[in-house]
Amino acid sequence: MRLGLVLPCLVCLSISADGGLVRVRVPLHDEYRRLRELGLDVTGAADSVVRGYADDAARARIRAAGYEYELLDDSCPPCLHEFYHTYQQVRDSLRALALRRPGICRLETLGYSVQNRLLLGLRVSDNAGARENEPRVRFDGNIHGNEKLGCELVMFLAYMLCDSFGVSSRLTALVNDLEIMLVPMVNPDGAVANQRQNANGVDLNRDYGYMWNAWGQSPAWFSQPETRAQRDDCERNEYCLSLSFHCGAELVVYPWGCTPLPTREQPLFQRIVAAYGTSTGYDTSNMHRWYQVNGVSFDARYGLNGTPEITTEIAWRGAPPDSVEYYCLRNKEAMLGFMTRARTGIHGTVTDTATGLPVPAFVRVGPPSAAQRWFFYSSQESGDFHRPALPGTYSLSFWAPGYAETTVAGVAVPDTVNPVRVDVALRRDRGTAAMRVVCVQQNDTAARQNTTAPHLVLGPADSLAYSMSCGGRIVLDMGAGTEIVDGPGPDFIVVERPSANDTIVVAVGDSWNGPWTTMPLAVGTCSFDLASRSVPHARYVYIRDASRRPNSQPGAGYDLDAVVAINHNSGTEERVSGEATRVTAEQTTVRHVLLLSASPFALHSSLFDLSGREVMHLRPGPNDVRHLPAGVYFVSGRMANGEWRMANKVIILPAGRA
Ligand SMILES: [Zn+2]
Repeated sequence: MRLGLVLPCLVCLSISADGGLVRVRVPLHDEYRRLRELGLDVTGAADSVVRGYADDAARARIRAAGYEYELLDDSCPPCLHEFYHTYQQVRDSLRALALRRPGICRLETLGYSVQNRLLLGLRVSDNAGARENEPRVRFDGNIHGNEKLGCELVMFLAYMLCDSFGVSSRLTALVNDLEIMLVPMVNPDGAVANQRQNANGVDLNRDYGYMWNAWGQSPAWFSQPETRAQRDDCERNEYCLSLSFHCGAELVVYPWGCTPLPTREQPLFQRIVAAYGTSTGYDTSNMHRWYQVNGVSFDARYGLNGTPEITTEIAWRGAPPDSVEYYCLRNKEAMLGFMTRARTGIHGTVTDTATGLPVPAFVRVGPPSAAQRWFFYSSQESGDFHRPALPGTYSLSFWAPGYAETTVAGVAVPDTVNPVRVDVALRRDRGTAAMRVVCVQQNDTAARQNTTAPHLVLGPADSLAYSMSCGGRIVLDMGAGTEIVDGPGPDFIVVERPSANDTIVVAVGDSWNGPWTTMPLAVGTCSFDLASRSVPHARYVYIRDASRRPNSQPGAGYDLDAVVAINHNSGTEERVSGEATRVTAEQTTVRHVLLLSASPFALHSSLFDLSGREVMHLRPGPNDVRHLPAGVYFVSGRMANGEWRMANKVIILPAGRA
């Protein structure tokens, strides 16, 4: 039994370094907040017990505060592995499926784990290699490495879709009509080590950048390669629905985790989880009502991408023996019903009036009472969008950097089966503004009552603002191809709600994760000139509230309305010039890998694989080199003036073939 009592003295010897899993008895469910303050990383809460991870010091504080706890064993015995896919089996099975069904499967490498294992996704659709006008749905599992059932359910979907294509008319229709992304093992290092966290000891489901708050040993928002790979996939592909599998209860939960306030689409989420719960017999709950959690994946999908994501807690135990088939069959109908929902709601395409070419647009949806609006994006490659929505009449505002906003009112979604189609052509316009929230953090006290939302910042100034909370931070993306550039006079304006006058620190950079160049301190609505800091261009803007007021009011902090670019790129031309970066490659004694060190001539270097995907970012100096699998890579270096220099090809041979 997973929650079995383990003798404390034995367990302290083996797991005290990382923090052990404990179960604490509490009189009230709400006491998880107090336990969190004492250092418990909460992973589940019920009426009389709270479960979570606590190291030696935290356990001492919990004991001193008068709570009783038991240490639990969260690993699964080795003998159970015969029932579950290992990392190698997942990798080999996905490859085999893609080879066996090349017409409907495409295997994608989303990135690499801390220990350089592949982060794989199988895209299942008719014409799998082509981008078609179809809703995209995503399933992932095993973000917690010891929750092995999640991986099994996603693998089950992969087999079922591939084996039933052309056989079952219902499953064939799903493959024909949708693009289904399957990521069975988000955390392969944790799965191999049979632990919740990744190889850096970070709980990946606390590492996401929406209302991130340093939970679960996460040192920074999107700090881990595993979460970055998922982030990048979700930003490249505008998923209209997403489902993440976990273990630890029999429960279907929906956002928010970070605040007790409801999402703007609470009735839609309730409808989705109710259908899943009815089919499976699982309970349903809002996440925060179960227990508060910050930096969780579904808050980021919904808060950053506008994608409704739910979590299914499949079973009380992460790896129950000999019951994989039972849970697959129990969830099968619910998973298929979830996919079917992708074909409902609002669909359409966004194009350019002049060229007819697709436009990746930011779409705000709502009744005219604009503060209640929610949002999504149209596809980057083909401009199409697909979004489940409950029956009702909506007003849709379409906007993209470099285009004028166009509103379509009176869009009626007739019922929960038939979608409504809305095709829109956008007219070019001189202005541009921030088009994505990349990461955001706010003060936890303010979060409980802050009814404004970060996405209100996006698009042109409209006097609808996001209250950042005192000390809150946000990173905004101005859009690829529409970066701010240094031109005559001020280059961009940070707009605060009229009549507000709060203080902020503003910084700019070419990467969402810095390095940042800090601009002069600002109060209220302010304009900035990149020339004042000798910065030629900036795609990302970082803003931190610097006021020192209490966070007790709902509107605490800077009231950020918009970030508007005055001088900006208007096309997609790329600058490629300069001489090659010098890169040295040395063989090491480790099998199949080489050590790569960046040239001292480059400030920063990035490594790209053959598909053009950035697989590694290298900072100068001896401490930032890492092992790489054999293969062909391209290295590009960024010079002191911020310019990217030309790429060098690097071939890394397997050991023994130097
Ligand atoms: Zn989990």
